[in-house]
Amino acid sequence: MKVGKLLLTALICCSLTGMAAPAFAEKEIADEPMWDSAPAPKNYSPEKKKAAEEMVINQKSFTLAANPIIVIDPGHGGDDPGALGNGLKEKDLTLDIGLRSKNYIVANYPATVYMTRSSDTTVALSTRASYANSKNANFFVSMHINAASLSSANGVETYNYPGSTTGRRLATETYNQLRNSFSNDRGVKEAEFYVLKYTNMPASLGETGFITNASDASQLAQSSFRQTLATQYATGMHRYWWGF
Ligand SMILES: [Zn+2]
Repeated sequence: MKVGKLLLTALICCSLTGMAAPAFAEKEIADEPMWDSAPAPKNYSPEKKKAAEEMVINQKSFTLAANPIIVIDPGHGGDDPGALGNGLKEKDLTLDIGLRSKNYIVANYPATVYMTRSSDTTVALSTRASYANSKNANFFVSMHINAASLSSANGVETYNYPGSTTGRRLATETYNQLRNSFSNDRGVKEAEFYVLKYTNMPASLGETGFITNASDASQLAQSSFRQTLATQYATGMHRYWWGF
């Protein structure tokens, strides 16, 4: 519906200006569960979310907690394979990248890292958010792989919840690293994804490549590429928390 409206608007604008209509063949927002996909977790606190936003803006976090608690959320898993394409499953890629990122962080930074899942298990959306909330994490990074009906769609994008300044900074720092692995930079976007809304801390979600694109998929199939993505996620998180 949204794309339809955009297309209509674009057609009207272009017919007025005499320009060729752009092709809106790709979805603007990745197909991940939105905030109304499931009930809010019991330990979701809008007040805590707001306080976390203000605390980090004031940079008090640097004295309050030098060593951050990070929750990494590998998308999908178990009964939910996520996107499929080119012989790959999103749930396998996100788990591998997530575990590699955790391993890199704990080996190199003074941080504590928790995973919403560490194996191929089904984890409900509310469980992912409530887990991060129960750990009092300082920030939350959800990892996903994109998909589109058009196989030419490719590249990287990250997300924050609309209006979240700290989420925006986290999404931007990770994006600035991850974009080095892709020729198509799709930008830092906003979306009302469930895990971005119901986590009590700054949160971002990354879509590193399209499983439906032959070139992105052949890269994602290589463990060396997934290791690079994991390191780039970690570097972005480091820059977000420590500022360098
Ligand atoms: Zn996903």
